[in-house]
Amino acid sequence: MPVNLCRLVYFSEHNPNVDLDAREIVTVSRRNNAAVDVTGMLYSDGGYFVQALEGRRSRVTKTYNRIAADTRHQNLYLVSCSDIRERMFSGWSMGLYKDMSPLVREQMTGFFSLNSFDPENITVESLIYFLQILAMDIRRRDVPRTA
Ligand code: FAD
Repeated sequence: MPVNLCRLVYFSEHNPNVDLDAREIVTVSRRNNAAVDVTGMLYSDGGYFVQALEGRRSRVTKTYNRIAADTRHQNLYLVSCSDIRERMFSGWSMGLYKDMSPLVREQMTGFFSLNSFDPENITVESLIYFLQILAMDIRRRDVPRTA
């Protein structure tokens, strides 16, 4: 039976009242996601999170519901959830991109025109493109991506 895969993309704001460590979040994410074959990428810049989750719809939904209830972030914007033929972050139970290199910052500023995310004006294509740029940068720098 074919497996229906989907990709969910959202972004959110860090909760300024809660201390968080993105690496700790990713350690737990990798453990949980690997167990249910969910893959993806998380971007964290101290102000925003952008995350893509890929896998079976039921598993991605459960994971997203857990994440959405987490008080470490707030103002979640669900940008899209759609069927996909193949994964973009295959092999990454959860990639983490934390420190933006000057090259990526330049590309991001050029692409988004702004140096920040505007929930009303950002498209899913832009966000996926952004996450792809980060993934390429991780590969280029050969940063460890799985636990
Ligand atoms: P546990 O092992 O029970 O707890 C995990 C750790 O997180 C513990 O140290 C616990 O104290 C801490 N923790 C849990 N909730 C909170 C909270 N509200 N405030 C402070 N500390 C807390 N989980 C995934 O499984 N997959 C993901 O891809 C994923 N992505 C995330 C992205 C973001 C931006 C955030 C904020 C969280 C993400 N999480 C993800 C974590 C998720 O929200 C749940 O905390 C986690 O899934 C709980 O899993 P568990 O029951 O196995 O955790």
